[in-house]
Amino acid sequence: MTDKSSLTHLTITQALEGLRTKAFSALELTQAHVDRAQETAPLNAFITTTFEQAIERAKHSDLRLAKGETRPLEGIPIGMKDLFCTKGIRTTAASKILGDFIPPYESTISQKLLEAGTISLGKTNLDEFAMGSANLTSAFGPALSPWKDGAGTHCVPGGSSGGSTAAVASFSAMAATGTDTGGSIRQPASFTGLVGLKPTYGRCSRYGVIAFASSLDQAGPITRTVEDCALMLQAMAGYDTLDATSVNVPVPDYLQEMKGSLQGLKIGLPTQCRLDDLRPDVAALWDKAADVLTQAGAHVIPIELPLLKYALPAYYIIAPAEASSNLARYDGVRYGARVEGDSLDALYMNTRSAGFGDEVKRRIFVGTYVLSSGYYDAYYVRAQKLRARMIEDFKQAFSQVDLILTPSAPTPPFVIGGEPKDPVTMYMNDIFTVSANLAGLPGISIPFGLSSEHLPLGMQLLAPAFQEGLLLRAGKVLYDNAETHPLTALKEANRK
Ligand code: GLN
Repeated sequence: MTDKSSLTHLTITQALEGLRTKAFSALELTQAHVDRAQETAPLNAFITTTFEQAIERAKHSDLRLAKGETRPLEGIPIGMKDLFCTKGIRTTAASKILGDFIPPYESTISQKLLEAGTISLGKTNLDEFAMGSANLTSAFGPALSPWKDGAGTHCVPGGSSGGSTAAVASFSAMAATGTDTGGSIRQPASFTGLVGLKPTYGRCSRYGVIAFASSLDQAGPITRTVEDCALMLQAMAGYDTLDATSVNVPVPDYLQEMKGSLQGLKIGLPTQCRLDDLRPDVAALWDKAADVLTQAGAHVIPIELPLLKYALPAYYIIAPAEASSNLARYDGVRYGARVEGDSLDALYMNTRSAGFGDEVKRRIFVGTYVLSSGYYDAYYVRAQKLRARMIEDFKQAFSQVDLILTPSAPTPPFVIGGEPKDPVTMYMNDIFTVSANLAGLPGISIPFGLSSEHLPLGMQLLAPAFQEGLLLRAGKVLYDNAETHPLTALKEANRK
């Protein structure tokens, strides 16, 4: 096979089959993706590319394939969010302060993906320290989505995993890793017509993932199909002694779990998500998703999550509080960039002033404020209490239903330049996603339709802890019944 777009358009499942039957080599598959990534370079999906290593690894994969020593994702070209430490390869968190940081060690997730046989094409762009919803806060410039509005202006790829979604949606990588602290896998997947899964807190190791808010951060896959998502999750999930918050429960066979029926499953629609000002196209698609699940044999019922309206304010206290503590380590002494000063304090101040961007500084200010002695009880403690009660709300809800269905984001993607200018409106993007992080629950975003302006809209499913298999199963039903087939929509978006 020589036609390159026919190689980049394959799903992972198809690519594995083609490699197995020798329809093409890992080298051809990787070269096609390198070429495509070079073609799509204006999208700024990658901060650092590792094409030469990728080619070398592809040759190695071909040797293994020839000997029949194949691993589960042998020869599959992927993108790695630049928040995962990669040994010997620059890892920046899209921040100037880590602009030339070369980690001496490998994150568990990137290690597991290497061991599964994947080939990394490079480190994908993101919002600085994963703080944002549009990939506009990167010190390396915004990443662009291949999706454009009617006038031909590029949309944002969502955030914070915007480089990952830009790469996968533009067929420059077959899949990519993301991290999700408040929605950063699901929202960018929704914005670009992709599948994004945030696993249960503790399902995927956080070892070597640059920390934003440690009690909320979780790594997961971003792919073009649900089946590919199952394959990636299989390679990423698992207990890790290097992460104290990793949970030692067996990893099921996700492909197998994906295949079951929805007969008799109960699906809850939280009445609190029916916002008064919900866009009609989003509301209509949500109803349609409920219909599709009903037709597949599930029972859809309304449920109450009374504290949902506090999820966003609680998140925007807890996440910045943890961030301000995690980011204290970037002081110009031990890591990355340093700007000298005539005293130690001046060195700290100069380094941090020059090294962090505006959004990161805003979070540090908020976080330091809510943790300061006079305000600790009023903000941080109250937010933690709300978090505990929200976890109870979810427990209550999941005693009645197996899954919860909501839109992934309140809007389709906005075009570059058309983004909300005040931070609080930008934070509203996370309204449907943050509660899963606060409660540590798994969630998936499925591309399910197009908005009135023909831009992607995703539907979110949430499940009880460690029920990722159920998310994949119901997600597959939504995916297969999407208004426009998601792959057709993506190809169309790339042609425009
Ligand atoms: N958009 C959210 C924020 O800016 C979520 C970020 C994330 O999940 N990493 O905090």
